[in-house]
Order: sequence, then structure tokens, then C-alpha cells
Amino acid sequence: MKDVKITAMNPYPLPPFTIEKTNETRGHCECCGRDNRSVAGLVFDRDGAAAAYWMHWTDGHLTDTGANLDLVLGKWGNGTTSADRYAVALVHRQQEDGTPALMVIDGHERPAANGLLASSALSRTDVIGTPLATHLFAMIDAIYEQDGRFF
Ligand SMILES: [Zn+2]
Repeated sequence: MKDVKITAMNPYPLPPFTIEKTNETRGHCECCGRDNRSVAGLVFDRDGAAAAYWMHWTDGHLTDTGANLDLVLGKWGNGTTSADRYAVALVHRQQEDGTPALMVIDGHERPAANGLLASSALSRTDVIGTPLATHLFAMIDAIYEQDGRFF
């Protein structure tokens, strides 16, 4: 994994964002055997596909390990490669008072950063406090609003 210079690679995706739901898989948690689900989708901005995302969670783990939200941002489509894209990872945790908390985590160890879809990944410090964070959270708001399959 090499570090990525976002500004040199891709302009920040701009709202409005449109979500297209794609595939959905079900399985069982390795630690407890409870049902888990993974749902995927695409985010489009006015220029076309801006990101792919995956939400993965296990029933009953939303308050402890939480749900993983993985995104791969960058350029998609003909003539693009994984070198045009980078992975960003977040964890959604349901807090005791019922409100959700969304936290950016290190993306390097996540499946989305395996090199096939994205050749690089961002760490938490690559995102927090940068202009990308604003765009990323606007995109995530659209995902939560438009993808009704979560939890
Ligand atoms: Zn489990």
C-alpha cells in the first residue's frame, strides 16, 4: 500500500449524490453464529460514479463491534484502474442512548483495500479535519438517506 495524494488524483465528489443499491449477501458471524448481512451500492455525483460502498453488520453486534462501512472513492469506468481509487473505512456503532456514532478508522486492513478495487487506502488522520471529510460525510448522509436496507 502506498500513500495517496488525493488532490492530485481526483477532485472531491460533489453533491447532490444519488445512490444505486447493488448486491446483498447474508452469512453468519464467526464469533457467535448470528446472522450477518452485507449490502453494497454505488454513489453517483453529477459526473458519474463517485464511489462504491459496502455496509456489513451482524445482528446483536451493533453496540459492540459495530457495523463496517467501507467505501472506495475515485474514478470508475472504462480506462480506469485500481490506481485511480482509494479505500476509506468507517465503523457505525449504536450507542447506549440509541444514537449512532460514525467513526473513520484505518482503511488499510479492510477488504476494500485488497488492491483489486483500490490500490491505496486512507488512515483516519488522512481524512479527519481535511476537505475530504466534508465531502465524505455528505456522501455518507446520502447513503443513509437513500439506502433503506441498513440494520
Ligand atoms: Zn458474533
